Amino acid sequence: MSDFSAPASASPAEPFEHPAWHAGNTLELVRTVALGCTLCPLALQGRSQVVFGVGDPHAALLFVGEGPGEQEDRQGEPFVGRAGRLLTQLIEGIGLTRDDVYIANVVKCRPPGNRDPLPVEIETCAPWLDRQIELIEPRVVVTLGNFATKLLLGTKEGITKLRGRQFPFERAGVSAVLVPTLHPAAVLRNGGRALAETRADFVVAKRLAAAAKQ
Ligand code: SF4
Repeated sequence: MSDFSAPASASPAEPFEHPAWHAGNTLELVRTVALGCTLCPLALQGRSQVVFGVGDPHAALLFVGEGPGEQEDRQGEPFVGRAGRLLTQLIEGIGLTRDDVYIANVVKCRPPGNRDPLPVEIETCAPWLDRQIELIEPRVVVTLGNFATKLLLGTKEGITKLRGRQFPFERAGVSAVLVPTLHPAAVLRNGGRALAETRADFVVAKRLAAAAKQ
């Protein structure tokens, strides 16, 4: 695996082209190239590895979170810590398994100390997510929390105002429905009502995915 980084300066005549767009036409090829990514500052801030994503490469349901935490960074898989266990339970609660869906994050490398990802990091990493969307072609995209929702809906509105609704989604050549919901870590913090609301959002997402299949 070879590392690559953005050129120090890209003139208008030679715009920088993100490697995601030349990484190949399967999820596995794109993943292989992404594993060597050093394009944003997170590459140098203590990540162990790039956490690309996991699940069915043709899943009807795509879940998008924020970024890897400590456990995810160690294991190379998104949502495997405490919040991940809750995500798994929520997925199982609608009669599916992690293997039936695809799980990814807005940024693929762990922000140090689990801080929020910065706008430049989100922007630089977005083409990897776009390739995932393009190649998976999900029918329903479930955004988990503020960062994924703001990026994929192009909104500044907070998740608590947006959840409970569904939105048309067009990105990377894919038309789908976007269902915003709370991040499992926020559900763990807030419990009770937050859990009930998130469960309801998951039920809606599954119903929409089933309806889109017909
Ligand atoms: S967060 Fe994304 S853009 Fe930044 S180094 Fe990791 S894979 Fe590359």
